[in-house]
Amino acid sequence: MSESINTVCVQGGYRPGDGEPRQIPIYQSTTWKYDTSEHMGKLFDLEESGYFYTRLQNPTNDFVAAKIAELEGGTAAMLTSSGQAANFFAIFNIAGAGDHAVASSAIYGGTYNLLAHTMHRMGLECTFVSPDCSDEELEAAFQPNTKAVFGETIANPALTVLDIERFACAAHAHGVPLIVDNTFPTPINCRPIEWGADIVTHSTTKYIDGHGASVGGVIVDSGKFDWTAYPDKFPGLTQADETYHGVVYTERFGLEGAYITKATAQLMRDLGSIQSPQNAFLINLGLESLHLRMVQHNKNGLEVAKFLRDHPRVAWVRYPGLEEDSEFARAQKYLTPGASGVVSFGVAGGREAAESFMKHLKIAQIATHVADARTCVLHPANATHRQMNDEELAAAGISPDLIRLSCGIEDTQDLIADIAQALEAEN
Ligand SMILES: *Cc1c(COP(=O)(O)O)cnc(C)c1O
Repeated sequence: MSESINTVCVQGGYRPGDGEPRQIPIYQSTTWKYDTSEHMGKLFDLEESGYFYTRLQNPTNDFVAAKIAELEGGTAAMLTSSGQAANFFAIFNIAGAGDHAVASSAIYGGTYNLLAHTMHRMGLECTFVSPDCSDEELEAAFQPNTKAVFGETIANPALTVLDIERFACAAHAHGVPLIVDNTFPTPINCRPIEWGADIVTHSTTKYIDGHGASVGGVIVDSGKFDWTAYPDKFPGLTQADETYHGVVYTERFGLEGAYITKATAQLMRDLGSIQSPQNAFLINLGLESLHLRMVQHNKNGLEVAKFLRDHPRVAWVRYPGLEEDSEFARAQKYLTPGASGVVSFGVAGGREAAESFMKHLKIAQIATHVADARTCVLHPANATHRQMNDEELAAAGISPDLIRLSCGIEDTQDLIADIAQALEAEN
């Protein structure tokens, strides 16, 4: 019987046996004991699966990762200490010094820095393309050493919607996987693997946790990308790993397990960055209501966007679910349940008007956060991008009046009333 995604949110990943705890146990243990060192040796050779040290794997994490894999329609997943770690590992697992990646230019600032600067220092080159680039521009971005294509389903904070099918086709034509950061839609609003994405990442810090309680990330593998068809491009997956007595990941673990096993066995081993089991437990509590919360986020996002569109003090609104939005057609295709709760807009009167508006909000609170149960609001020109002058902001695609409003799950009319009184308040 195949279960609805709503049921998987509540019950996926962990099915207790007779007399076992109903809720996922928190395995608060760094290490595991074995009767013989021979048995432990087999674990170290990846000959048998089993836990030995929480830097690499922990059962609490694996229950939650299995639930997220099921939600995204993947075959395997791993939790990471943050969304940043998830995107770093997702790319670094298949690309390193001397390699190249293609990425959408409309991505989270942290991921842009990771690709443009930090991974660049590690020897990975990245070409950024507009998500609206022509087919010729997309084609021209690829190089013989390209190993991956990266984009965000709904970009943070630009709120552009990635044409997943188009980017997946281009990636596959060049023999490389498409990695999609699906943080804003969550698997409730979009499942990128169904549209051709090969690997999906999340900052679980956002909607998946949903309660502002724990920083974390996840990587999900579709199991669909055939690494063995391009053995020269992906030797790390298709050739012997001498640090595990010559295991070949694709041979030992199949296409469904090779990518995540390699990331666990090599990257977690050498770089750490696992999510704490406590945090995994917390994000699972979030997942249990994700399907219910997203309905209200979607509703609040759309209703607030419509209210802002019709308000005389609002200069412009960007929300992919709004009919007149440039992203609407793609949102209709990829985000049928809804376009999530994040709206950006400008208040007439520019930077000062934005500041005054935010000061008067009562329910919506100023926070460096997004995709939370509580409505929060950020003025990038005054916060994350405050070192930039107006011209530099324009080059980054952020106008001085831009306000990013992340609609929570409060009552829709209460939210609209709060925004209305703040727009109408005397400066
Ligand atoms: C927040 C965010 C990240 C980074 O996640 P952290 O959990 O803060 O490390 C990555 N991608 C997107 C789209 C995000 O919104």
